[in-house]
Amino acid sequence: MSTEKQTHGFQAEVSRLLHLMIHSLYSNREIFLRELISNASDACDKLRFAALDQPELMADDSEPRITLRIDKQAGTLTIADNGIGMDEGEVIENLGTIARSGTEQFLASLSGDKKKDAQLIGQFGVGFYSAFIVADKVTVESRKAGSDQAVRWESDGQGEFSVETIERTERGTAVILHLRDDAKTFLDPFKVRQVVHQYSDHVAFPITLVSPAEEGKEEGEEKTETLNSATALWQRPRQEISDEEYQSFYKHISHDFQDALSWSHNKVEGKLEYTSLLYIPARAPFDLYHREANRGLKLYVQRVFIMDDAEQFLPQYLRFIKGVIDAPDLPLNVSRELLQDYGPVQKIRSALTKRVLQMLKKLGNDEEKYATFWSQFGQVLKEGIAEDRENQEAIAALLRFATSEKPDSVTTSLDDYLEHKPADQDKIYYLLADTPSAAQQSPHLEVFRKKGINVLLLSDPVDEWMVSYLDSYKDTKLVNAARGELDLETDSEKDNDHPLIQRLKDSLAEQVEAVRATGRLVDSPACLVLAEDQLGPQMRRMLEAAGQPVPENKPVLEVNLEHELLKSLEAVEEGDRFNDLAALLLDQAMLAEGQLPKDPAATARRMHQLFARAL
Ligand code: ADP
Repeated sequence: MSTEKQTHGFQAEVSRLLHLMIHSLYSNREIFLRELISNASDACDKLRFAALDQPELMADDSEPRITLRIDKQAGTLTIADNGIGMDEGEVIENLGTIARSGTEQFLASLSGDKKKDAQLIGQFGVGFYSAFIVADKVTVESRKAGSDQAVRWESDGQGEFSVETIERTERGTAVILHLRDDAKTFLDPFKVRQVVHQYSDHVAFPITLVSPAEEGKEEGEEKTETLNSATALWQRPRQEISDEEYQSFYKHISHDFQDALSWSHNKVEGKLEYTSLLYIPARAPFDLYHREANRGLKLYVQRVFIMDDAEQFLPQYLRFIKGVIDAPDLPLNVSRELLQDYGPVQKIRSALTKRVLQMLKKLGNDEEKYATFWSQFGQVLKEGIAEDRENQEAIAALLRFATSEKPDSVTTSLDDYLEHKPADQDKIYYLLADTPSAAQQSPHLEVFRKKGINVLLLSDPVDEWMVSYLDSYKDTKLVNAARGELDLETDSEKDNDHPLIQRLKDSLAEQVEAVRATGRLVDSPACLVLAEDQLGPQMRRMLEAAGQPVPENKPVLEVNLEHELLKSLEAVEEGDRFNDLAALLLDQAMLAEGQLPKDPAATARRMHQLFARAL
């Protein structure tokens, strides 16, 4: 039974991606071969997995392999596998759409600047569509394992593709690249060999190259050679694997085309045997914050591929780790549900978590690499402070902060902080703000600067939530510099019985919880302080955005009685003018926090009046 040829349009995102890919990846174009070989290798993995339950799928062809074929006359390079194959529906779905959520926004963020876009496309992972970097027409023929129907997909990458059913004796998929004139170099066996060596040597299935016979041989004769050793890289002893091999294996499993920052390869023996090879990427994928996105941990059991996103083996906050776990003692028919509460998996997870934290600690010795890591994944790692109490201290040691002493570099660790603090300082101080500059400018820092005490400046949206889980580090308490009463000794006695305090209290009774004389300020007239049990502004906004009820919050106003402004205010008589000035004092304290006064129009009116008098 065969259907007529049908034409379909690519999903708009695919057309966009194709266009960008062809233009921005040209100088990296040989990666197409790695991507197509990776897909072929995945297809072989998937067949082996499916055959665990249905051995008949293998039929009489049970040795998975990948075949590259050069046809000089036709100008084609074919990448074929005898893996799982695709039926018509899968071909249309897999090679015509992109199903990852967030794709549209991601593509909208691309700039049209080749260099920048090439970097960004790496975040996306290039995949099958990279074929069009070198081919002006791509033909895919596929027969799904267990089916006797085959399908041909064809496209010039210009917005449409055609699909028809065909006869095909071989199981699996062949991707036939009709090479562009400027990509004919991939018809040269020498070039193909070199690219496979460089990018795909470690693929666990044999890669065979079939090319026309060399000169002097008979016309029509072909040469067949195997290009790789076809052993799973992670099964080989560490000392035999070069850095280049580790990096190229990373790219094979991650579809990234930038090197990984670091990796850790371990074979654990004893009661519970397993091998792990884990990588830290240098760049976050665009969908790091999409819950349903695929993660990059592949699970193998007895070298048989089981699944692509074995998320049970690492906690959520380490979801950026890519790699392979081979656990030969797990049952081959292990399912996601079983993994969830399976004792041995929990043990491996706990060991792998510690291993990754160790690896990150080590990476911390390389300042430049660690800065890259921190800028890409620091926010995600912070989730671990709340999620993983058992490893909290190890995670906390990996955090990096800007500080009041070094506001422009996010490089200070808690250990650095403790090491450099004055001996008699018994707390770790931090300040929360919406932006780094708001933190740096905050009046709350005045007393700390005066006393030479460093303060951690936190301005990530997750920070308030994170520190609410981090009471102390190495037995030193963490204290919010803007909360409660500071017990830093002050030079002047705090005079809370001062008549001006009482007058301000009366005037601002509706807006504030209390008015106090401050020990925090040096140059500023007033600031806001959170009571011990109050939510900070970041948390309030987070809860409000999530539609949660948030209790009414009245701040505490602390005033600097030594300040000119307060001294002058003392001389103003009771009445509207005093009330307006008191209200302005509160408003400017809110502004300094990056908050909007409760009634901005009234603030503006009061300021106009003040201007009018002053001018
Ligand atoms: P990715 O591999 O990242 O999912 P690709 O664009 O490379 O994205 O491929 C899309 C899908 O097409 C794959 O997930 C797979 O299901 C299917 N596919 C691609 N190549 C093959 C192949 N050689 N054999 C079987 N399926 C394939």
